[in-house]
Amino acid sequence: MSTTDPISRVSVISTGSVVIRPEHVGPTRKNTYVWLFTSTRWTAPRPINVYVIEHRDGLVLFDTGQDRASVTDPGYFPGGLNGLIYSRLAKFEIGPTETLEAGLSGLGYRVDDVGLAVISHLHQDHIGGLPVLGGAEIIISDQEWNSLGEPLPEARGLLRSHIDLFGLRWNRVTPEPLADPDLAPFTEGRDLFGDGSLVLLPTPGHTPGSLSLLVRRPGRVPLLLVGDLTYDARLLAAGKLPGAGDKRQMRVTVGKVNALRESLPGLAVLAAHDPRAAGLLAEALAEPAERR
Ligand SMILES: [Zn+2]
Repeated sequence: MSTTDPISRVSVISTGSVVIRPEHVGPTRKNTYVWLFTSTRWTAPRPINVYVIEHRDGLVLFDTGQDRASVTDPGYFPGGLNGLIYSRLAKFEIGPTETLEAGLSGLGYRVDDVGLAVISHLHQDHIGGLPVLGGAEIIISDQEWNSLGEPLPEARGLLRSHIDLFGLRWNRVTPEPLADPDLAPFTEGRDLFGDGSLVLLPTPGHTPGSLSLLVRRPGRVPLLLVGDLTYDARLLAAGKLPGAGDKRQMRVTVGKVNALRESLPGLAVLAAHDPRAAGLLAEALAEPAERR
């Protein structure tokens, strides 16, 4: 990495808020479908985060939030059993001033400024900005994209009619070998701009094709944007897993993320729905990086 910082600003906005089941946050021994259909509790409201990174080669989003149409259009979600699953999984509140456009505008950007939008995975609360991102390149893991074609996508949280939109410029990426010892134990991923500042890492578990984005800046605390790998960075640090996803894969991935701290001291893990994420980002931006 060079010593000049290609990144000038990192921000987070939230497209409204969501409540989920405490068992979803985890840890729980219950099977996903058991808690999904029996839980009687909801968490306090949580954010639906979109990370906004100003890089000299373009404005980058990590995730795009939830579409406000999901709370204003009664036909947004499927009906029947799938509809029941969505209604038991999460409840959203998204006001007119909480859209992606409004959030970006609050930071002084327009949606047309977005050059690149990375989608951590295809669940509906991460793809909600797609309808307004026709001018951007949309990055998704090839494996995640292919999961759309597997049986019962709607039951797995994938709403194709809101994803595979006309006019979007998708870039389906596969991990490539990365020869950077600082990324150990990760050995593959994608260096977005070839300068080491933004590196996509495969972090399967929540979904098989889930991606995280490592943000590295000279003299600053490194950030790892992890999507839904965890709902609470403290649980991840303690090796505790959420109540949904592939437990075996999540255990391996969480272990790798915690091991990454060895080479990237102070690493701040920023999730999509961690109520503390915005505070963790503010702390990370205020602190100088630890010296090794
Ligand atoms: Zn999510």
